[in-house]
Amino acid sequence: MKKVELHLHLDGSIRPSTISEILNINLEEAKKLSTIETKCASLKEYLTKFDIPLKIMQTKENLERVAFELAQDLQKDDVIYAEIRFAPNKHLKSGLTLDEVVTAILKGLSQVPIKTNLILCMMRGDSYEQNLKVIKLAKKYLNHGVVAIDLAGSEASYPVNLYQELFEIAQKENIPFTIHAGEADEPLSVINAINLGAKRIGHGVRAIESEKALKLIKEKNITLEVCPKSNLDTNMYEKLSNHPIKKLYDMGLLVTINTDNRTVSNTNLTKSYQDLQEVFSFTKQDFLKMNENALQSAFLNQAEIEELLALLHK
Ligand SMILES: [Zn+2]
Repeated sequence: MKKVELHLHLDGSIRPSTISEILNINLEEAKKLSTIETKCASLKEYLTKFDIPLKIMQTKENLERVAFELAQDLQKDDVIYAEIRFAPNKHLKSGLTLDEVVTAILKGLSQVPIKTNLILCMMRGDSYEQNLKVIKLAKKYLNHGVVAIDLAGSEASYPVNLYQELFEIAQKENIPFTIHAGEADEPLSVINAINLGAKRIGHGVRAIESEKALKLIKEKNITLEVCPKSNLDTNMYEKLSNHPIKKLYDMGLLVTINTDNRTVSNTNLTKSYQDLQEVFSFTKQDFLKMNENALQSAFLNQAEIEELLALLHK
């Protein structure tokens, strides 16, 4: 079936074959460096799988290639719309400018006939000035390939409220945003992210532990960008049957299904849907509803949403 993906990191979705080719190492080694084989101890350990991809994604040529290949992979996965995210500041090690990074990625994506947009990630742990640059960059390219910003990185070490001022600036500049919350940190993180103005929450699944968080999500029509396989890989849940996605969905919350990182988690949406169907008996109608949720909260204008909804139902 046709699918929509809202939560997808470019650097976590680089093909192992591309790593192998660029670094001149064998494919098995490339897979080992970029993919989780067994569960990680924590989100922190999971994040080490981005070291090699980030080492490679420092030239225009490589950025364009990785973006192009991801768009091809999305097409094969029957994705009709995706919002792809990455942290621009992480691609400046070889002297590229922020503009060159965004332009190279957009160029790669534009070569595949599938609708995509970018979300620029501010990073937990980066300085105020570095993150402010991301906001300015998003403003510059807003609705020209970039549709929003995000806050990613180690949630437990850097609470969302440290970034309040930056999100106030984003709001003033009319830049939409989503925030990673309720993944590695407790439900209060979700509540704080919503109170900062996020309309979408990256993960958000730990809201299940708090009545107050669930109530707020329902009241404010917040969309949850749920990434089940990623949550297993970071050892949040031991097995898929322990994951709260079905409970959240049955509560009527706006649940969407995402991969987070296709390479790191060795998955795609087709596989994720199959796993979810086996464990929770989700029906085709349920998956359709979750894709409608995704489109209705996509960072797009109403006309674009209507067009994609028609395509989804075709
Ligand atoms: Zn993520």
